[in-house]
Amino acid sequence: MSTACFARVTEELARGWMSLAGAIGGHSVITYLISTFGTPEQRERYLPKMADGSIRATMALTEPGGGSDLQAMRTHAVPDGDGWSITGSKTWISNAAHSGLIGLLCITDRDAKPAHRGMSVLLVEPGDGLTISKKLPKLGYRGIEACELIFDAMRVPGHAVLGGTPHQGWPQMMRGLEVGRIQVASRAVGVGQAALDAAVRYAQERESFGKPIWQHQSVGNLLADMATKIRAARLLTLDAAERLDAGQRADMEAGMAKLFASEAAMQVALDAVRVHGGYGYSKEFDVERYFRDAPLMIVGEGTNEIQRNVIAAQLIARNKI
Ligand SMILES: Cc1cc2nc3c(=O)[nH]c(=O)nc-3n(C[C@H](O)[C@H](O)[C@H](O)COP(=O)(O)OP(=O)(O)OC[C@H]3O[C@@H](n4cnc5c(N)ncnc54)[C@H](O)[C@@H]3O)c2cc1C
Repeated sequence: MSTACFARVTEELARGWMSLAGAIGGHSVITYLISTFGTPEQRERYLPKMADGSIRATMALTEPGGGSDLQAMRTHAVPDGDGWSITGSKTWISNAAHSGLIGLLCITDRDAKPAHRGMSVLLVEPGDGLTISKKLPKLGYRGIEACELIFDAMRVPGHAVLGGTPHQGWPQMMRGLEVGRIQVASRAVGVGQAALDAAVRYAQERESFGKPIWQHQSVGNLLADMATKIRAARLLTLDAAERLDAGQRADMEAGMAKLFASEAAMQVALDAVRVHGGYGYSKEFDVERYFRDAPLMIVGEGTNEIQRNVIAAQLIARNKI
């Protein structure tokens, strides 16, 4: 399907349950990487099973020492006979406990300068030499686990390198993250829409001072602002998706969509709590969950501060004087 269609499907899943949409987040980035850069053998081996769900994939970038500064990563693979031996650790890896395939970004040439020229994506099937930690406790997004991965001289075959040629991992993963950021933006739109729907419903049911609360101008204005933000977020997201579908570079647009949609979702989730008064703080109402799920989209797939860096760099690159 097109990325725009994928964004709409993701939004709809997240409107019901953000964790469900999250479970196919990293999975779809790895699917995109294999279908775009994979060898015919890699496509044949993984894509049919990833499509029917018998293989769940996870994307492993973040390390305990940092997720934003990926060039400082330490996890590395060294040639070992006809394969590679991987050592290091990754953290906050979604889907890890049930993963049948890990798309691992790691260093394969430690002498490369800058470091990103020596990175590869390895397609790792869990096995000996890999330990997956128990679930990391977290604020929200609890329908899907996040774990630590520890690689202790884990051996993988030579054909595990995405596309077959080592040291191409950075540009491959940066392209994949365009899809990932559109997916996260779509999740934010879905959570925001769910929070807005709940607030619009509740504002008509709940009465104070003899009228439905939406008729109090402060509450009506809140609803108007919430709806406007979510509509703008959806349009930005679809715009980024269409640009990617047109084969154009879309990192700036995907970054804008992810930045705007996630901040909008957080604000709209908070405002939905506000509209619900005390009940918004109750676990009996879904808005409490939206409020706990929304922050993940601000942090995940590159924090919003990193998105601003990407947007600014592209603004200058595309408008050089
Ligand atoms: C629930 C959950 C699921 C996740 N799933 C995955 C996953 O499946 N795969 C995966 O690889 N990762 C995953 N992550 C990790 C996530 O991508 C990282 O947490 C994120 O990239 C930030 O990295 P960090 O936590 O190390 O923060 P840091 O990089 O330490 O950043 C800390 C703060 O400093 C700011 N900062 C850092 N550098 C800069 C800079 N240059 N300019 C401006 N501000 C800066 C950041 O924006 C942030 O506010 C997940 C995280 C969570 C919470």
